[in-house]
Formats: sequence, structure tokens, C-alpha cells
Amino acid sequence: MKVVAATGNAHKLREFREIFPAWEIVSEREAGFSGEVEETGETFAENALLKARAVCRATGLPSLADDSGIAVEALGGAPGVYSARYSGGGDAENRALLLRNMQGVTDRRARFVCAVALVFPDGREVTAEGETCGEVLHSERGSGGFGYDSLFYSADLKKSFGEATEEEKNSVSHRGRALRALEAKL
Ligand code: IMP
Repeated sequence: MKVVAATGNAHKLREFREIFPAWEIVSEREAGFSGEVEETGETFAENALLKARAVCRATGLPSLADDSGIAVEALGGAPGVYSARYSGGGDAENRALLLRNMQGVTDRRARFVCAVALVFPDGREVTAEGETCGEVLHSERGSGGFGYDSLFYSADLKKSFGEATEEEKNSVSHRGRALRALEAKL
């Protein structure tokens, strides 16, 4: 199946391709989409649908979007859907802010959550979600991945996502689980 990845995030695109090697996944730029989709939804699923619909409408191709983030128990689920915009800066600033907000906090439980949406030109829409549990580390471990990976100790892998290989991360990650659930629905 040929689908457009409705994301400007190169890391997500790479993980989509690793998780679904049998699909032909082109980037939104390759498909001729250069717009920005405003993430006005209050849930991961709403935002994933907004992105996939916009790219499908613009390109006329099936479009696959992901909206994801980290939900920290002691912070009442924050930063959640605001994970990308947490500090107003980039990934490094977001990690620094999370560490500051977790100073002195002993309950470090956190989940990565991912909603994926696949929207077809004929209007069909399929969504799925996945999550993965772990803890917020006290300092960064490993340099792999992106976003909050180096601060997330995976309960499944017994190491941080920053220390994991791509294959290890994809086997237990929120994105891997959401995409496999989507595939099962299809
Ligand atoms: P989105 O592009 O609006 O879905 O933003 C997702 C944000 O959540 C990213 O910018 C990352 O900060 C964080 N995030 C989502 N998935 C992951 C992951 O697999 N590893 C690390 N951080 C992630």
C-alpha cells in the first residue's frame, strides 16, 4: 500500500517505515504537501485525524498521521498532547523543563501514548492507539531516538529508549503498538 506520512517529523517517518517495511511510505513533502496543520484537538486521536485528513485532502492519497506524547503521572498527565510545545523550544529544552518539573518528585511513572489515523480519499478513516509504560529518569541516558527518549526508562526493555536499538524501541513503543493495532484493524 502506498501512503503519505502526514508528519514533518523525520524520526516518526523513519519509525513508520521500520515498523511497516511492506508499505510504501512517502513523506508529505515528496507527495507535494508543504502546509502546516494546526493541532487544535484536545486528544491524541483528534489531532492525528486532523493531520491525516488535511494531507489526504491535499494529496489525494491515503494519509497516515501520528499524534503522540508523554504523560507523567505526578504531573497529572502533562505534558500530554502538549509534549512537542512543552517549553516553547525544541526537544532539548523540553527535556530540561521536564527534569526541572520532576525535581524532588519520587513518583516517576510515565507513559508514552500514540494515536494513529489512516484516512483514505474515499472518506474511510481508521484510528488506533498504543501506549508504553516506564519512568522519567533523573538524567539523560543514551543518545538514540528523539524527543523524550533519553529520559524515558522503559519497563519492558529495562533500559532507556535512548539506549535501545531502533528495533528494540519499535517492538514495545507506543508507536509500534498503535501501528500494529491499526494494521490488525485493516
Ligand atoms: P506531535 O508531533 O505533536 O505528535 O508531538 C509529539 C511530541 O511528543 C514529540 O515532539 C516528542 O517530544 C514527544 N514524543 C512522541 N513520541 C515520542 C517518542 O517515540 N520518543 C520521544 N518523544 C516522543
